[in-house]
Amino acid sequence: MAWKTIDDMALANKVVLTRVDINVPMEGGVVTDTTRIDKIRPTVEDIIARGGKVVLLAHFDRPKGKVVPEMSLGHVAPALQASLGRKVVFGSDCVGEPARDAIAAAAQGEVVLLENTRFHPGEEKNDPALAAEMAALGDVFVNDAFSAAHRAHASTEGLAHHLPAAAGRLMEAELRALDAALGTPKRPVVAVVGGAKVSTKLELLGNLVTKVDHLVIGGGMANTFLVAQGVEVGKSLAERDMAETAREILAKAKAAGCAIHLPVDVVVAGEFKAGAASKTVAADLCPADQMILDAGPATVAALTKVFEASHTLIWNGPLGAFEIPPFDAATTAAAKMAAALTKAGKLVSVAGGGDTVSALNHAGAATDFTFISTAGGAFLEWMEGKTLPGVAALGA
Ligand code: ADP
Ligand code: MG
Repeated sequence: MAWKTIDDMALANKVVLTRVDINVPMEGGVVTDTTRIDKIRPTVEDIIARGGKVVLLAHFDRPKGKVVPEMSLGHVAPALQASLGRKVVFGSDCVGEPARDAIAAAAQGEVVLLENTRFHPGEEKNDPALAAEMAALGDVFVNDAFSAAHRAHASTEGLAHHLPAAAGRLMEAELRALDAALGTPKRPVVAVVGGAKVSTKLELLGNLVTKVDHLVIGGGMANTFLVAQGVEVGKSLAERDMAETAREILAKAKAAGCAIHLPVDVVVAGEFKAGAASKTVAADLCPADQMILDAGPATVAALTKVFEASHTLIWNGPLGAFEIPPFDAATTAAAKMAAALTKAGKLVSVAGGGDTVSALNHAGAATDFTFISTAGGAFLEWMEGKTLPGVAALGA
């Protein structure tokens, strides 16, 4: 790997500037989901165990370069203290005197949390002067915010050019999982791409067809591919103006030797509503007054064969409109199959995407996947084959 980890750094008596993503949901001043906070614990504990002082840098919400009191990280400090089980010393600015005072006030084993980096306009502009001011506070930079790594900001990218830099544990886990899925995967590799629209995932499809052996297209975007092949899809969600683009992707796949798998049967209903009467039909027989809302059992059976023949799976996007049963059936069945194969040691499975994570949790399959990325935009940009500036800077 081109990047260093905490294990490669001497941290004893060092001030470790640690970029984390603790942009947690909050209602009425109370954190409603502490997942992101809980996930930084291994990094914090490892730095402290190696004798370093942890100084957390993070953004919160979108203050757009201004001080917005409701977006103060001070509101997150109590939840952080509770999750870490360590005293948190808050600094009312991420640079200058308030930051220095907080760092000096914290004893070894206590954690410093500095104010929202996005209160400074230089953060999102990746202003070298702001990065230098941050760097002056510490000795080492640890980046644990993979989910913010697709943005070149002062605290995610700039800082890495001023101090010895390493990946934190969460960043390390993401990078290893993503490398195992698309970087140096065990073949054959199958990618599942679903979701609503082709237009939001064009670059992703274009990149995947050159890298994977099988591409399963599901969800609403499969309808666009069916239309591109001259199939009528009735009232289904489909981007008819994307038909030519879909045909280009199919041609690119063919040239690259990537097998495309579209639904062979589909579940249709008159409307997207709980309790709507539904039936399964062949993929080219959607009635004019009906819409396709899920893949059918024959498609799931075909998918199962592809999964069984593969060693690596990468998944983004549900196969159907999973929010309302019974249109969750194909996604749930495929997710359970992938989870079982992973558990049996036959498949490395990596998944990401907001709705995908919900769908896999809904299927009760998420815990058996090799890795579930909660990084959202960064995960998608990585699947598109883009270089993430925050990761690239660690290798510099
Ligand atoms: P992710 O957030 O994981 O990247 P997307 O946002 O691209 O996934 O796609 C998820 C959405 O796609 C869900 O809201 C789901 O209802 C919708 N969807 C999937 N299949 C269909 C379909 N056949 N018709 C309409 N919407 C669909
Ligand atoms: Mg989504």
